[in-house]
Amino acid sequence: MNETSAGQVQGAKTIHGVPYNLLTSRILRMRSGVVTLLALLCCSVGLLHAQSSDPNVQSIVNAVIDTCSRPTSIAVLKLDGSRPVVASRNVRPTEKFSEPGSSVKPILAWLAASKDVLSAGESIVCTGTTGEPRCFANHGRVDLRKALATSCNAFAFELAGRLGADNVVQGFVNFGFPRLDTALPNTLQAAWSYGTGHHPCYLEPAQLVSAYARLIDSLFSESSTVNATLREEILDGMRLVVEGAEGTAPLARNDRVTIAGKTGTGVGVKGGAGERTSSWFVGYAPVDRPRYIVVVSVLDGTNGGTDAAPIAREVLIRLLK
Ligand SMILES: [Zn+2]
Repeated sequence: MNETSAGQVQGAKTIHGVPYNLLTSRILRMRSGVVTLLALLCCSVGLLHAQSSDPNVQSIVNAVIDTCSRPTSIAVLKLDGSRPVVASRNVRPTEKFSEPGSSVKPILAWLAASKDVLSAGESIVCTGTTGEPRCFANHGRVDLRKALATSCNAFAFELAGRLGADNVVQGFVNFGFPRLDTALPNTLQAAWSYGTGHHPCYLEPAQLVSAYARLIDSLFSESSTVNATLREEILDGMRLVVEGAEGTAPLARNDRVTIAGKTGTGVGVKGGAGERTSSWFVGYAPVDRPRYIVVVSVLDGTNGGTDAAPIAREVLIRLLK
């Protein structure tokens, strides 16, 4: 058969006078358009898992996230320089960025240590709900280890206040946090809010997992110029979050793999109306020589220790099996 310049095949079948091959190509174009449209729709409502260059990690993340009933995002970083593996379930693009809450406190502690506004072994007294600044519980005398394990706000506020809002924001931006649209007033309240992962601090899990890769690299670095005792206190604090009697993530404990990390609970989705809880857990394992970092973010739950820690535990157990 000869093909004409118009793409018609001489002698080919016609339907209502239109060459068959032209009809099929039009139908195929329409079908591919529909498939593309469906894919875009699925992406826009968060039903499609992101693709990754590491199929093993991706399949584990996909398997775990399929068991999640609430809107959940998981980011996993294998500490070998590869890109993070990310998957979301029932998370719309407008819900991707939420307050990470106290999950940022180990980074705040690092900023305080690197700016020399905190001494090794230093402690303060948390007076709980009656004190100023207020904490959600009366933790009494807290050092850095206990502050991270219990997620003491009074200790974090103290560090943020010593740093000041400008140093807090710039410090977090250096860890890959988004730059703010407008400058934050350099006030104590602004330092407290941003420094503890609240408005206007909004993140998606891929950003936090990358920030923790930088943090862990800095904490374990033998060439670090930051006080070695303070670095050890930050690492101890994150171990105690899971293993300590007062830790906020006992649900990350298991007898297969030792996990350290930090819980976080925010109340806010960037640009979102109303108050929605975002529950976070950042976990890494094995604790003495981390190979993976997992960040889990769950919307509409209760808190990071309850909602996110068990999911991160499941991912880490499967990764290190
Ligand atoms: Zn406290």
